[in-house]
Amino acid sequence: MLSELFESAARIHGLRAGPAGAELDEFAHVLSEVGYAQITARRHLRAAEHFVSWAHRHGIAVSGLSEQALDRFGRHMPRCRCAQYGHSDRSLLHGARLFFRHLKDSGTIKVAAVASPIPEPALLMTFREWMHRQRGACASTVDNYAIHIRELLRHVGLELDKLDARGLRQFVMEGSKTCGWAAAKKRTTALRMFVRFLIAEGKCAVGLDVSFRQACVARGQPSPDGYTAAVAGSAASAS
Ligand SMILES: [Zn+2]
Repeated sequence: MLSELFESAARIHGLRAGPAGAELDEFAHVLSEVGYAQITARRHLRAAEHFVSWAHRHGIAVSGLSEQALDRFGRHMPRCRCAQYGHSDRSLLHGARLFFRHLKDSGTIKVAAVASPIPEPALLMTFREWMHRQRGACASTVDNYAIHIRELLRHVGLELDKLDARGLRQFVMEGSKTCGWAAAKKRTTALRMFVRFLIAEGKCAVGLDVSFRQACVARGQPSPDGYTAAVAGSAASAS
């Protein structure tokens, strides 16, 4: 409480009567509890009071304080001409920051809930289980595969029975245009594994894994696998 830090009744009254009286009272209590020396706690409290006063002047309520407001206040500090708080030095911003954190911790400022991640398609979850069970793959490997598979699912929807080697090949080619060959190779590996899973689950044509591999190594078609052959070929022709 403010009375733990200040002896002057007028000073305590002045703080309590301000736009954030209750919050400053609570902040003073927390600073004492945490063990700040009185002189330091008073400095932080003065900084908090300055922050509140500045915000009030700009039409910002205590519950509406934000990181942006704190940044703006930081820019105000070197230019400060406030009658009560003149000659503010930037180090006082630390007190304002502590007060802001206190407001968040105490729930005075409602922090927006972190957006929940987009739920994973059920099929991808089943694939994860399959990879773990059948291939002993670790989570990070499947996470890498999942990036490409999620994109494939966005691309083709759930009409997986219509997947064919040409479509898959096209999908890899499009990826290689934007992400390069190294990523295209990873994509191919991920898709091959996914196709094997789909076959095992009876969700796509048997033999698609073979035709996809053949499409990847078909002559005259640049492919992640063919890349090695192409490089080897050009090296051979150069020698
Ligand atoms: Zn000021």
